[in-house]
Amino acid sequence: MQKRDVLLKIYKSLYNFFGPLNWWPGDTPFEIMVGAILTQNTSWSNVEKAINNLKKENLLEPWKLYRINQEELAQSIKPSGYYNIKAKRLKNFVTFFIEEFEGSTKKMFSDDSKELRKKLLKVNGIGPETADSILLYAGKKPFFVVDAYTKRIFSRHKLISQDAHYHQIQEFFSQNLDRDVKLFNEFHAQIVMLGKTICTSKNPDCAKCPIAFLHTIYHVI
Ligand code: SF4
Repeated sequence: MQKRDVLLKIYKSLYNFFGPLNWWPGDTPFEIMVGAILTQNTSWSNVEKAINNLKKENLLEPWKLYRINQEELAQSIKPSGYYNIKAKRLKNFVTFFIEEFEGSTKKMFSDDSKELRKKLLKVNGIGPETADSILLYAGKKPFFVVDAYTKRIFSRHKLISQDAHYHQIQEFFSQNLDRDVKLFNEFHAQIVMLGKTICTSKNPDCAKCPIAFLHTIYHVI
C-alpha cells in the first residue's frame, strides 16, 4: 500500500469514528492566533477561560493588546498557565502583527505564505507548531500542523522515525497528501483527538482504536 493510500485510509477511519471536529474554535482569525499562542503547554479549557477574560475585559483586539502593559495582560490570561511567559509571547506577536501588518489579518495573510512563516518563526516565542497553527487555522493556508500526538501515533506504527524532527514529519504529510486546507485542518484535529482519548502515552487502547488496521500493515510498538 502506498503511503498516500495509508494516510487517506487513516484519515477516513478517524473521521468516520470521531465525526467532524470543526477546528479551530474562535470567532475571528485574530482570536484563533491568540488561542494558538495561549494553548502552548496547556489544555484547551484553560485557554477558553483566558480568552473569555480577554473578551470580558474588552481586550481581544490587536491595538488594545498592543497598548496594554505586559503585567496587566498576564493577570487577564492567568488561567492559561505560564501566564508571565505567555503575556510576553503575546505582546511579541501583537507587536509584530501591528508593526508589520497594521493589525490587519487581511494584509498579513495576503503576504507570501512561505515568507510569512519565516517571519512568524522570527517572533520570540513562536515555534513551528504555533506558526503552522496560525497559518492553517487563522489564515487557511495549507501547512500541516505537527504536534506530540502526531509523532507518537505515527512513530508507533513506524510510519515516521521516533527521532524525526518537526519539518521531517511535516514533509511526510505534505509530500504524500494534496495540499488541501480542509484536509490538513481536519486531519490534525482528528490526530489530536485520537492521541488524547485512545492512543495515550502510557496505555494505548488498541482494541478500541479506529486505525488498529495499521497493525496488519506495519510493525507496531
Ligand atoms: S492501534 Fe494502538 S498504537 Fe496504533 S494508533 Fe491505535 S491506539 Fe495507537
